[in-house]
Amino acid sequence: MSFFLKHLRAFLLLELLLGMWLTLRSMFRTKHTLNYPYEKGALSPRFRGEHALRRYANGEERCIACKLCEAVCPAQAITIDSEPRDDGSRRATRYDLDMTKCIYCGLCQEACPVDAIVQGPNFEFATETREELFYDKQKLLDNGDRWEEALAANLKRDAPYR
Ligand code: SF4
Ligand code: SF4
Repeated sequence: MSFFLKHLRAFLLLELLLGMWLTLRSMFRTKHTLNYPYEKGALSPRFRGEHALRRYANGEERCIACKLCEAVCPAQAITIDSEPRDDGSRRATRYDLDMTKCIYCGLCQEACPVDAIVQGPNFEFATETREELFYDKQKLLDNGDRWEEALAANLKRDAPYR
């Protein structure tokens, strides 16, 4: 570029005007960003978020304490104790999940024969202390109660591919 053209561009503020044109054009285009946390993006039904223990519609816990999830967990994050009930059925008396060890691989969910332990759509469970990430059975059941509608919908959407 000649010396003259270079100085003409600078004098007319062409670079600045081009930049402003780009900004103006972008204002009327489809947005690529979200105003999180007020807006949230779509999640796959297979999204591996916070864990939950589900119940049947009658309120009965789904978990039969088979310990398959405990056995398959590569991070050894799950600890289960169980004992038989009066009716002979087996239920977990303790279901601890150390979320600080979990690598969110989803194997526990895959191994569960009754869709009891699942990873739900919740990814907003950051805590201020480590201790809050040591989940017990009650915490996991509470998660299940809170997210059941979304969990059931995700399992239904994913069912044809399992
Ligand atoms: S998601 Fe993976 S690492 Fe986490 S508890 Fe389940 S099996 Fe273990
Ligand atoms: S959550 Fe599922 S896999 Fe784990 S012990 Fe209970 S029934 Fe078995």
